[in-house]
Amino acid sequence: MFDLNKIIRPNIKNLKPYSSARDEFKGEASVYLDANENAFGSPLPQAFHRYPDPLQYKVKMRLSEIKGVPARNIFLGNGSDEAIDILFRSFCNPGVDNVIIVPPTYGMYEVSANINDVQLKKVNLTDEYQLNLEGIAEAIDKNTKLIFICSPNNPTGNSINREDIETILANFNGIVVIDEAYINYSRQKSFIQELTEYANLVVLQTLSKAWGLAGLRVGMAFASEEIIEVFNRVKPPYNINEASQTLALEALNNTEQVNAWIKETLKERDHLVLSLKNFDFVLDIYPSDANFILVKTTDANKIYEFLVNQGIIVRNRNKVELCEGCLRITVGTPLENEMLINSLKAYN
Ligand SMILES: *Cc1c(COP(=O)(O)O)cnc(C)c1O
Repeated sequence: MFDLNKIIRPNIKNLKPYSSARDEFKGEASVYLDANENAFGSPLPQAFHRYPDPLQYKVKMRLSEIKGVPARNIFLGNGSDEAIDILFRSFCNPGVDNVIIVPPTYGMYEVSANINDVQLKKVNLTDEYQLNLEGIAEAIDKNTKLIFICSPNNPTGNSINREDIETILANFNGIVVIDEAYINYSRQKSFIQELTEYANLVVLQTLSKAWGLAGLRVGMAFASEEIIEVFNRVKPPYNINEASQTLALEALNNTEQVNAWIKETLKERDHLVLSLKNFDFVLDIYPSDANFILVKTTDANKIYEFLVNQGIIVRNRNKVELCEGCLRITVGTPLENEMLINSLKAYN
């Protein structure tokens, strides 16, 4: 049975969090002399002289409407990267605990594990880029706190079989982190509706991809109220700045534009796949549920350098295990994709 009290780090369980001025007084008042702000204003046209809402209530209420998940089940981080780091700091005792990742996958899990001095166990995906359930079961020991699953997966682009993820959720006594950074492009259903089903589920999403707000740094974690409460105690008090909160809220009211872009991206992705298939140096294009494709080529290094010289940058994944010969190509605008294809016509 999953028991949050058993997996939380003792120092975090006993942590008395920083109490900010905005924590200690939450009502409306006419004079605020409690936070040592500059009462005269800010040099900017917009008022930035007050500290932002520590718990980002307005943004969460809007997200709650969009996602169909109560605000109390949402955590906002300075990018998903902050949520990943907070998972380590909340649950993994440095030098003692371990986590499981399933490569090839997103690089931040490993970096965050290393920063936090937490042992990393790698159980490679199968040749079809799916979970090796037996391998994962063997890798789990009493100190395994987190399993990271990215679906749709970066850099392979495919979704991970839902039943396999459910098997892990139902049998693992630590936390299962499902990174859904690319879920808006996927045909698969998000796991955020399963929070009531699994107490050990944490779903990560972000405003950096389909929402087009990578520069604002807003990532989301969806989890049980108890887990979100832990994150809120561990996070820096004002982790989402006022500019990001204001602009994120504004953007979240423009779902139509975002949905139109998602549709166009998917159309362009199909088109890109068809065009790339014509080239002799393209050996395989893996099925994608994301806004990028993984393309196996005869010589990834050479094609990468060739494109760099044309001013076109893709991601060379040649050195990544199970991705030998592969380039990861983000779907661009129709013009950008055409420029890519035209450039490749001159490659031989
Ligand atoms: C891009 C990406 C993210 C997003 O990270 P942010 O810090 O929110 O910008 C998270 N996970 C994966 C797998 C990604 O590819």
